[in-house]
Amino acid sequence: MTVQPAALRHPEKAHKPDTPVLRKPEWIRAKAPTGPEVAATRSLMRELKLNTVCEEAACPNLGECWKQKHATVMILGAVCTRACAFCNVATGKPLGVDKSEPAHVAEAVGKLGLHHVVITSVDRDDLPDGGADQFVRTIEEIRKASPSTTIEILTPDFLRKPEAIEAVVAAKPDVYNHNLETVPRLYPSIRPGARYFASLQLLARVRQLDPAIFTKSGLMVGLGEEMVELMQVMDDLRVADVDFLTLGQYLQPTRKHAAVARFLPPDEFETLKTIGLSKGFLQVASSPLTRSSHHAGDDFARLKAARLARLAGENPAGENAGS
Ligand code: SF4
Repeated sequence: MTVQPAALRHPEKAHKPDTPVLRKPEWIRAKAPTGPEVAATRSLMRELKLNTVCEEAACPNLGECWKQKHATVMILGAVCTRACAFCNVATGKPLGVDKSEPAHVAEAVGKLGLHHVVITSVDRDDLPDGGADQFVRTIEEIRKASPSTTIEILTPDFLRKPEAIEAVVAAKPDVYNHNLETVPRLYPSIRPGARYFASLQLLARVRQLDPAIFTKSGLMVGLGEEMVELMQVMDDLRVADVDFLTLGQYLQPTRKHAAVARFLPPDEFETLKTIGLSKGFLQVASSPLTRSSHHAGDDFARLKAARLARLAGENPAGENAGS
C-alpha cells in the first residue's frame, strides 16, 4: 500500500476550490506513529497485502493504536466507489475482489494476538452484493483461526444491494457498526452517495434480525451541524435501538475536503456524552479524537457489562466512564 498524493487519491475533487483550513486547537494532539510495534504492524500488513483504514484515512490515533497492535483492517481494496467530502480514502475504479484476503486478515489477527478486531471496507457499489460476501468470509476465517476473538464490523450502507445486510448479520459479528457520519441536512454536501434514512434503517434492520448483536454508530462533529440536529440524530438512533454512539471531531484531510466549521472543546464532548447516556444509549464515546474503532476492545467489554447491568435492572450510565 502506497499512500498517493492528494490529487491522485481524489481526482474527483481536484477541480474543487480549496477550502479554508482552521488552525488546530491544542487539544487536538496526535502521538507520532513511531516505535517497534508500529513498524511491526506496518510490515505485517504489507506482508499480507492488507490495507488499514488507520493509514488510508490518515487517522490521528495511529501512533497510539498501533503501539498496542490495534489496527483496523480495510477489506475489499483501498479504492472506494464513492467520494464523500470528509474522507481521505482514495476514490476511483476498484480492482477485483482478492479471494485470499479473508484468510490473510485471519492470519494477521492471529499474529497480532487480537482479542477484539475491527474490520471495515471501502464502498463497493460496483459489486452485486456490495462486498457483503467478503465480510462474511472474513468473519468465518477469523472465527476458524481465532475462535475467542470478538469481531466488530463497520460496513458501508449496502444501498440497493438486496439481502446484503441479512447475509452479513447471519455471519454473527459481535458488533455491527454503521456510521451515520453527520446530520441529515448535511448529507447532500458531505455524504452525497448515501441516504440518511437508509443508513438508519440498516441499523434498525440489524437489531431486528439478531438482537444479540450489539449495534453501533458514529458521527463526526464540527462540520456545521447544529446542536438541535445532533439531538434529533441521537433520538433517531435510539428509535433504531442502537446501543453505542461514538462522537469525534471532524478533521479535514486536505484543502479539497470539506472545511472544519468549528473545533468543539473537550467539555462540549462531555456534555454530548451525558446527553447521549440520558437518551438511553448503553454506551457513548465522545471526545475530540474518538473514532469508531478507537479503544474498540475495551469499549466492547464495557458494552457487554452495560447490557448485563441493564438486563439486571441497574442503571449502566454511571459505569460508563470510558470513551
Ligand atoms: S482509531 Fe481506529 S482507524 Fe484510527 S488508528 Fe485506531 S484503529 Fe486505526
